[in-house]
This record gives sequence, C-alpha cells and structure tokens, in this order.
Amino acid sequence: MADQQKLALLGGPGAVTAQSEDMFTWPIITKEDEEAVLDVLRKGAMSGIDVTVQLEKDFREWLNVDYALGFNNGTASLLAAMYGCGIGVGDEIICPSITYWASGAPAFSLGATIVFADIDPFTLCLNPLDIEHRISERTKAIVVVHYLGYPADMDPIMEIARKYNIKVIEDVSHAQGGIYKGRKLGTIGHVGAMSLMTGKALAAGEGGMLVTNDTEIYERAIALGHHERFSSGIKTEALQPFTGLPLGGYKHRMHQLSSAVGRVQLRHYEARQAEISRAMNYFWDLLEGVPGLRAHRPEKDSGSLNGGWYAARGHYRSDELGGLSVSRFCEAVQAEGVNECSPGCNLPLHRHPLFKEADVYGHGKPTRIANASRDVRELDIGLPVSEGFAANVYSVPWFKHYRPEIIEQYAHAFRKVALNYAELLEGDTGNPPNLGGWYMYNRR
Ligand SMILES: *Cc1c(COP(=O)(O)O)cnc(C)c1O
Repeated sequence: MADQQKLALLGGPGAVTAQSEDMFTWPIITKEDEEAVLDVLRKGAMSGIDVTVQLEKDFREWLNVDYALGFNNGTASLLAAMYGCGIGVGDEIICPSITYWASGAPAFSLGATIVFADIDPFTLCLNPLDIEHRISERTKAIVVVHYLGYPADMDPIMEIARKYNIKVIEDVSHAQGGIYKGRKLGTIGHVGAMSLMTGKALAAGEGGMLVTNDTEIYERAIALGHHERFSSGIKTEALQPFTGLPLGGYKHRMHQLSSAVGRVQLRHYEARQAEISRAMNYFWDLLEGVPGLRAHRPEKDSGSLNGGWYAARGHYRSDELGGLSVSRFCEAVQAEGVNECSPGCNLPLHRHPLFKEADVYGHGKPTRIANASRDVRELDIGLPVSEGFAANVYSVPWFKHYRPEIIEQYAHAFRKVALNYAELLEGDTGNPPNLGGWYMYNRR
C-alpha cells in the first residue's frame, strides 16, 4: 500500500516525483500580453489613461457594474473606496484582524480608525456575529475581505449595514471572480476594491480596481487622486467647486503597461480560473475524509465558489492527528516534495505595534486613537479566533492546470503524512510563537 510507505522525512521515498514544469507558473504570459505591452511602449502611452479606460470598460462588463476605476495598486483603490464611502476624521471602520494590512491601514491617512473584528473559524472571513457589538455612532463602514479566495458571508453583513446605515467595502484582492450565492464578489457591497498585483489571481502587475454602482462613491474616488478625470463631468455637487486638482493630494493613475497586461489577463481569466478550480477541487476531493485535513471551500450546492484560489489554504485539525503541530506536519509534507506547504497565514494585525502605539503623524498619541472618541484598542482583546488561527492552517499547492496524475501525487503527499502522523509525534517541537507573516509570498 502506497500509504504505508515510510515518510520521506524519516528516510522514505518522496511522494512527489513528477516534474511540476509550469504547474505553478503565474501569471501565464503569452505573445498576446507581450504585444499589448509593446504596443503601449511604442506609442509612449505609459502615463496615459486610454488603455486603463478600456480595462475599466472590460471590468464593468465582466462584473456588470456601472463604474470601474483603475488604480496604481490595490492599496490605493482601498483608500479611495474608504474616502468614497465618506470616511473621515474620527470615523471608525470595522475590519478583520486576519488580512493583509491594506484592508484597513489606509484609514489612518483619512484620520479614521480601525476596529478589528474576529473571523469565522470555518470561512476565515469576517464573522457576521462579531460585528454588531463593535459598532458605535462613529462607525462608517465594514471592510469585508474574501480571504484566501473564500466568499465571505455577505447576506448577514449587508443586513447589519442596512440596520445601522453604514457602508460595506469588499476587498476582493484574494478572490477576483469568486461567487457568493450566485453573485460576483465586489458587486454585493457598496463598493469593491481589489489588487491586480502580479502575485494575485488576476495579475496585471502593480495595479488595482475599484467597482461600484454608486455615483457619489465613484466620483469621490476620482476626486481623491485622479486629477485628470476630476473635471467638468462630475455630477456630485459638493465636489464640483474643486475640480482640477485632486482633493487628497494623491496621484492614483494606473501604469498603462499594467492596464495592457490586465486587459489580456482578464480576457483569459474565466477560462484559466475554471481550470484552476477544477484542479484545486480535484486535489481536495482526493483528500476528502483524510483525518486532520479539511478543504477551505464553500459547500458544493451553496451557489458560492472560491475566486482565484489565491494563497489557498487548508484547515488543520491537530486533535485528529494526536496533537501533531501544523509546523511538523508541513515539514513532513515538504519532505515529500511539496515546497508549497507551509504553516499559518497573515498574522493578526491588532498585534502589530502600528495598531497599538505608533504615532505616525505626530499627534502626540497613537495614530489609531488620535482622532477617536474611544480607545478602540481595548476591543482587541475579544479576537480569540484570530489569535490562535495560524496553528490551524497550512498552504496548499496553487495548481494552474488540471493534470490529474500530478495532482494525485501532491494529494498523496498530504494523505501519506496525515495517515502516518504517529511517527512524527516524536521530534515534534511544536509551533513557533509567531506562525505566519505580515504578508504572504506565493512561490512559483
Ligand atoms: C494584495 C492585497 C491588497 C493590496 O494590494 P496591492 O496591489 O498590493 O496594493 C489589499 N488587500 C488584500 C487582502 C491583499 O491581499
């Protein structure tokens, strides 16, 4: 029996013998991308907006939204989404603690503050049950992150937003093209913002995109850092006197080499995503029922689908594996020939000194509470899932192609380690104190 084979970590043969070739190569760059880039270069149009405007049109059609606005990166699109929602001095936003910093940190430059909320231990996205008690009269928006490609539970979150008359910003940087109960991610809240950075599923290079159906959010996002578009066409009356110069003093224009790549990547995105999904679902189907391991994907009949499978991870149940640490588990899986398996994910943001004591702008007090009407740091104690979460997840290979024989070898590596966990208990020194990192790199 293959499963009875000796673990590679203990001197046995590795489970993965196939050459991975381009299994993990991303983005997929063809002549079409190269020509699109060369075309912009030859026209000297790197700093124009004509290609970006076309990319925005592609996005509007793809997501069926009224407005799309390109950005120099996802972080800027999130800042603009926050400004678009009217977030300003002394306001609060609610944001998960387990995410990339840009989901929340841009609020500081608007004079606003961040109230972290806990994640749901299964979805790993904002827990709708942990939001309401964190809302105050200063709360302006909830930032929802579709974390690791998984569509967050939007219905109850939108319900809360309606009840308190606050906005919902979807950070779609991990989940472009994902679906929640039949609806595309980024189009459910008041505004969606996303990174198109090279490491992400939809990879244009440095770039970001904001999408919304709300004219005022769109125009405020323009006003903040798109001076050449902040002109006579603006309909929002409060903005009209100020056209011509960017209200934020920012410049958020997308580099058109990125816009050009983005257009080509988007053209092929659904087809490539379908293949990625097929491959990832096959991998998880093969591991169905293996003790200790669970897929992080919506139920098959839920009408929801992971988007992109960016930085995909699996749930780890140490209690089913005799208490084996996820670190030791990953060490053994790596020894089988799976470089892509490592423990943890984003560290909880509320633990970083930036959100505790940093005085970024010289207020003479921590920026987090510089303009706040309460010490929102006190709310950080109630984030138990976020605190312990890294010990319960590990990264899995991000397959770009459906090649069953190769995927089977990778799945076998995980299965083999899980089934032979008992041999790893001896020599398990446990998890290091800070599992994960402030940001994640995807290995190719
Ligand atoms: C990558 C990322 C961002 C920021 O995007 P950039 O393009 O790198 O500025 C924001 N939120 C999340 C969740 C991300 O992963």
